[in-house]
Amino acid sequence: MNETPAATKQTYPALILHRGKTHAVKRFHPWVFSGAVKSKNGNPDQGDIVEIFSEDGEFLGMGHFGTGSVSARLFSFKKVSNLQDLWRERFKTAFALRRSLGLTESKTTNAYRLINAEGDGMPGLIIDWYNGTAVIQCHSKGMNAEKENFVQVLKEGYADRLVAVYDKSAATLNHKFEAEKAEDETQQAAINAQKSNDGYLFGSESEKIVLENGHRFSVDWALGQKTGFFIDQRDNRNLLARYAQGKTVLNTFCYSGGFSVYALKAGATLVHSVDSSAKAIDWTNENVKLNSTTGSHEAFAADVFDFIKASTNQYDLIVLDPPAFAKAQSARHHAIQAYTRLNAAAFKKIKPGGIVFTFSCSQVVNQEMFIGAVTSAAIESGRNIRVLHHLTQPADHPVSIFNPEGLYLKGLVLHVE
Ligand code: SAH
Repeated sequence: MNETPAATKQTYPALILHRGKTHAVKRFHPWVFSGAVKSKNGNPDQGDIVEIFSEDGEFLGMGHFGTGSVSARLFSFKKVSNLQDLWRERFKTAFALRRSLGLTESKTTNAYRLINAEGDGMPGLIIDWYNGTAVIQCHSKGMNAEKENFVQVLKEGYADRLVAVYDKSAATLNHKFEAEKAEDETQQAAINAQKSNDGYLFGSESEKIVLENGHRFSVDWALGQKTGFFIDQRDNRNLLARYAQGKTVLNTFCYSGGFSVYALKAGATLVHSVDSSAKAIDWTNENVKLNSTTGSHEAFAADVFDFIKASTNQYDLIVLDPPAFAKAQSARHHAIQAYTRLNAAAFKKIKPGGIVFTFSCSQVVNQEMFIGAVTSAAIESGRNIRVLHHLTQPADHPVSIFNPEGLYLKGLVLHVE
């Protein structure tokens, strides 16, 4: 029998790919770009589940439909008959990884990423665990539609260790919305109406203090950036501690003061924390207070570029951890220039023999481009600079080898003569 995709027993709309455009999906890349789609069976809406087929009717995968440049984000390359079973399986696998990393039973760390989107076979979904509260952040309407199911799976998996589930999706959904349908005013209004949709899907506000490598941090998932805390810098903060004893430290773009706390706890004599957000400065001061430290600490609400320019050459160690300077490819060139400017400013000011921890979390600026920007800055500064470490995101932010775009955090530790 010669079955076309439409004639097979399908319950979901289908995307049929051009003959020459199936190789990426066959190599388990989870994104189907719109240019690869030859035709559609059915009329999927943003976020709907779709099945992917070749022109010959070969099943290639299953995912969420998108109306932008990515037509589908795949969560399975096999047929799925029961989605709830798939989610359960994905969560189980994700939890087992975190357990093997020593994160789930740790006495010193109780904040970790449980689901890292494509890296855990769940494109568009982030779940961070904060000492009993799971914070869900959906980046696609498709994942957003499954939220209640995820709560169910979390309850089954964590049982009474799960105290609350907080949904932090409004901003990320709106962002995607804006990116994909920037000029549609009706949706703009819907976005605004949605702005206050964040809240508890289960339980209520409880313990907000988490432990990271024995350090105490208060996490505000409701008002904070991302899910409330930059868990992805855990290992890099630990490395900073190895360099901080007896040092004077400038922590730029400090947010809630992660690097500042580690530096102080490691015996830094002085730490200056800088962030343009007054709220971030409050959180930094609060977090420093939560830990018993002896070195002196001062936090400044200021623009980092201005602050470095006005500073004297008094720092042994400088941390540069700016926000993603580029969110889209179109902004990449400006972003690279901004990384160069920022790094050059720090290189010019740091003491001889100083150490710079420099990062980029822009996904569209890859490691090679980032190193290029830092190299330009080194040339501009006229200092001799050596690379001591190449840094990235920690193991609870895994990257599928088939989706290298998932590696977003890049860092270098540099010795500046
Ligand atoms: N290093 C932090 C995370 C940094 S997030 C941590 O480990 O937790 C980026 C921060 O940069 C945000 O808090 C934002 O308020 C701040 N920021 C963005 N642009 C800035 C600027 N030009 N000057 C100072 N701070 C800035």
